[in-house]
Amino acid sequence: MKTHHAILPSSTAEQAIGRDPGGRPAAANDDRPRLLIVDDVFENREILKRRFERQGYHATEAGGGIEALELLERETFDLVLLDMMMPDLSGLEVLAHIRSKHSQGVLPVIMVTAKTQSEDVVEALSHGANDYITKPVDFSVALARVVTQIERRRAELKIHEMNEALAQANEVLEHRVADRTKELVHVNQQLRCEIEQREQTQATITHLAHHDALTGLGNRLLFNKELGDALSHRQRHGSDLAVLFIDLDGFKSINDTLGHAAGDALLKHLAGRLRNALREGDKIGRLGGDEFAIIQFGVGQPHEATALAQRLIDTIQSPFSIDGHNLVVGASIGIALAEGDYQDAAQLLRAADLAMYRAKTEGRGRFLVFESDFDRQMKERRELEAALRAAVEQDRLEIHYQPQVNLQTGRISGFEALSRWRDPQRGNVPPSLFIALAEEIGLIGVIGERILKRACVEAAGWPPDTTVAVNLSAAQFQSGDLVAVVKDALASSGLEPGRLEVEITESIFLQGSESNLKVLSQIGALGVKISMDDFGTGYSSLSYLRSFPFHKIKIDRSFVHDLPEGQSSAAIVRAVCGLARSFGAATTAEGVETDGQLMYVRSEGCTEVQGYIYSKPVSADQIPALLVVPLQPTE
Ligand code: C2E
Ligand code: MG
Ligand code: MG
Repeated sequence: MKTHHAILPSSTAEQAIGRDPGGRPAAANDDRPRLLIVDDVFENREILKRRFERQGYHATEAGGGIEALELLERETFDLVLLDMMMPDLSGLEVLAHIRSKHSQGVLPVIMVTAKTQSEDVVEALSHGANDYITKPVDFSVALARVVTQIERRRAELKIHEMNEALAQANEVLEHRVADRTKELVHVNQQLRCEIEQREQTQATITHLAHHDALTGLGNRLLFNKELGDALSHRQRHGSDLAVLFIDLDGFKSINDTLGHAAGDALLKHLAGRLRNALREGDKIGRLGGDEFAIIQFGVGQPHEATALAQRLIDTIQSPFSIDGHNLVVGASIGIALAEGDYQDAAQLLRAADLAMYRAKTEGRGRFLVFESDFDRQMKERRELEAALRAAVEQDRLEIHYQPQVNLQTGRISGFEALSRWRDPQRGNVPPSLFIALAEEIGLIGVIGERILKRACVEAAGWPPDTTVAVNLSAAQFQSGDLVAVVKDALASSGLEPGRLEVEITESIFLQGSESNLKVLSQIGALGVKISMDDFGTGYSSLSYLRSFPFHKIKIDRSFVHDLPEGQSSAAIVRAVCGLARSFGAATTAEGVETDGQLMYVRSEGCTEVQGYIYSKPVSADQIPALLVVPLQPTE
């Protein structure tokens, strides 16, 4: 049974919640909290409605569950006061409907129930009612509970709003973060690109700093570093190594006569050849100009290094074909073995350099292994150099003349002028030594010119059919004024050009041969005779004989020396004599000392002999006596 209780107004409740009843306009105000009062008893609804409206609420009435649900469909409420017992739908049923759509936070429901229905209250609370009040309604309690629920709802809505705002802000933030991340990724990529470029540039710079641009080989800097590394490695592991210092012979004249482009091309080809000649793991560098150096690893015995040196010399000597020219260079190699004391890279390289220098002064195209007294020898060389300069300055070089005897007439046909240097401390210094030194230090031009002039002057005083032979060094051909020098010597002495012979060696064919041949032709055109000296030594090739119409071929004394027994020498002498005859050239056998040698060269049709068997070189004042009677061979 349903009992109807009146809801009593209570001002204490109004005070309890601290609300000013007159503070809010009761009239339609959008801000007023909207209540839905559901009760099947009209009076109950009316009382509540009035009292709540007086408190500033907007109240709507529903006379039953169905009406209440319809109203809820159409309008929005802030709170529902729901009677538990109604004829159409029970309060619990209405509650179930409401909760199927609205949560406790969004639409609070306060159950209005009789005191006796306590189990219903429990059920209602467990099904989503927010609170309950009992009938007869104590309005102050009702108001307090409504206020609590409305406040709570507001707070929840606020929280919800704030959550929404937060979510929105979050979303914006996330977008911003995503954008920023994208930007960062891009910037990062750019940076990485830049770093890569920079690293590449750095690598290029390092490469350039350590390599020779022309040949692509490592430069001195890199070589020193590699040698240092190799030596410290050796100290740790005890494996042996050798340094080979290579310097080209005659490269300068290729540069001078054919230009730098040809020189560069040759160096490039040469670098390739050297690289190919090495074992994997060995190191090679270009130290500058025409200097190269090699680190040879695993050298147990010196002969392993010398074998490589010989192979390199052979490789370098085979002709290069550049711009249609066949170019030939030689090489001198110094070897230093990293044994015992030589642990220091600079020291080892210097030792190899010194050995190379020695190899060069001893005649080029050869290798030499460093020995510890090189330092002393180098000092001696420097002193010799100074002494030679002084001798040239004071004009103390002399000339001796060695007769050349015509084998048909038995008479002296001419003399070869040979330089002599008698040093107060050293005594007689052999020309093979000081001429090579003069070539190296650039004194050969002065010396050669003086000898030529003086020899011409002295020969002018000899009988009219007597010739004078003067040696010309290949270096003199490079100076550019050799033709003028010869002309001048002839003119100032008054010597008839046909009485002058110049002797050249095969070395002039090795470097800048075309320009050298031109100079030679110009000298020939003056009427001067040209002899090929020391034929058969050095870079001997019969083709040289065809490249110029020589008047005379002088067979080197190393072939004459083993005559007549030496089979190959005999064959060579025979061949050269035959060849010269076919060209219409004369032949001179040099260094004839014995009757046997004399007989052999005579039998082969040699035209002249120059050797101790007739006379050693003599001073100019002894010549008149030699010319009086025919010379007799004396062994
Ligand atoms: P070369 O032009 O072949 O001169 C011949 C050399 O053989 C001379 O040596 C001479 O003394 C030597 N000789 C001659 N007959 C005999 C012999 O029967 N037995 C032996 N054992 N030797 C003999 P020298 O005077 O010592 O000259 C050596 C080289 O130095 C010359 O060889 C020449 O290439 C060079 N030379 C000398 N003077 C000059 C010069 O004024 N200018 C240039 N550019 N070179 C020179
Ligand atoms: Mg000579
Ligand atoms: Mg000779």
